[in-house]
Amino acid sequence: MIINGVDFNNYFKNYPSKDGFFGKYGGCYISDELKAAMNEINEAYFNICKSRKFVAELRRIRKEFQGRPTPITHLERLSDQIGNVQIYAKREDLNHTGAHKLNHCMGEALLAKYMGKKKVIAETGAGQHGVALATAAAYFGLECDIYMGSVDIKKQAPNVARMKILGANVVEVTHGLATLKEAVDAAFEAYSKEYKDAIYCIGSVLGPHPFPMMVRDFQSVVGFEAREQFTEMTGELPDSIVACVGGGSNAAGFFAGFLNDPVEIYGIEPLGRGEKLGDHAASLKFGTEGIMHGFNSIMLKDENGEPAPVYSVASGLDYPSSGPEHAFLHDLGRVKYDVVNDDDTIDAFFRLSRTEGIIPAIESAHAVAFAIRLAEQMDHGSVLVNLSGRGDKDMDYIIENYGIK
Ligand SMILES: *Cc1c(COP(=O)(O)O)cnc(C)c1O
Repeated sequence: MIINGVDFNNYFKNYPSKDGFFGKYGGCYISDELKAAMNEINEAYFNICKSRKFVAELRRIRKEFQGRPTPITHLERLSDQIGNVQIYAKREDLNHTGAHKLNHCMGEALLAKYMGKKKVIAETGAGQHGVALATAAAYFGLECDIYMGSVDIKKQAPNVARMKILGANVVEVTHGLATLKEAVDAAFEAYSKEYKDAIYCIGSVLGPHPFPMMVRDFQSVVGFEAREQFTEMTGELPDSIVACVGGGSNAAGFFAGFLNDPVEIYGIEPLGRGEKLGDHAASLKFGTEGIMHGFNSIMLKDENGEPAPVYSVASGLDYPSSGPEHAFLHDLGRVKYDVVNDDDTIDAFFRLSRTEGIIPAIESAHAVAFAIRLAEQMDHGSVLVNLSGRGDKDMDYIIENYGIK
């Protein structure tokens, strides 16, 4: 399939380019010192991660530790309620630790081990990436420093406890607003001093090259598994697939399995409370081109051109940009990006829980809400939604803010 000159038969060979570009998006906009560290990781990625030994070891770990492959579930009662369209879910909520993030953290930590590094470093906002990386570090016997703003440390006590139980060192960041942005800055600063012994592990398809490529490739196991499972189950491809987009890692990995197929692909961003800047985190819908955190993409900016404040009921989706590959696929029109607001998300959260016995993460409930909307507009066919994680982490918040609906 060729769209606007982009040949999807050879997509993974050509995108990103050698210097990390998806069209005009991506790249590596960082200090020379950090560039040297990124080059080291990039070289190691091609020399190590493509080796048969690495691939075989990661495959074994995925099976024996993570519990892969995760199944696809036919959501029969939900489909029956809607009509003729069949909705299916890829169950990343059943991946160890309850979400897709472990897929790339295990890859990144295994790479760290092969490179002879002793430590992994990362920042975390809501704590999900921190927990996944702390899990991977414990599995491989690596030290783990997680930078986290003091405001987030107070808000996310259960995840802080999880990281500490797993043996990670949670480094409190107190300057500025003491949230995710400051944690990113502090973690990068630490990394620029420690990169000989440590590797930085980014939590999504974000940041400077090679991370958007690496994280996508580690997550693509989700899409390739799903394609095979779905065709085995039904004898055909799904008509449409749907995933939520924060930074964009679960979506990028899921989409990777279907980019060259006659399948409609939808990425769903959070519309939060509405369309006013500050009330949502729908960067691809409302943003403009710009550089932040080391890469060029589409981002939400304030009046000074700085990353704008964002909001979503799902803390895993409230980031003012998306990965460069999503900006590229958006401009090409290969993936359609749409939005779902908080209220529709919460309705979908309860509906999936009660009709199917699956409590989704609030992030994933955005994709479920859109899958329902899509199925209601179709006469027949199928929709496959990526259930990026389970909702246990969200239950206290839901009960406190929405009660039992
Ligand atoms: C972090 C998270 C997301 C958002 O991250 P992406 O990189 O956009 O996938 C989505 N779902 C769950 C369950 C998460 O924990």
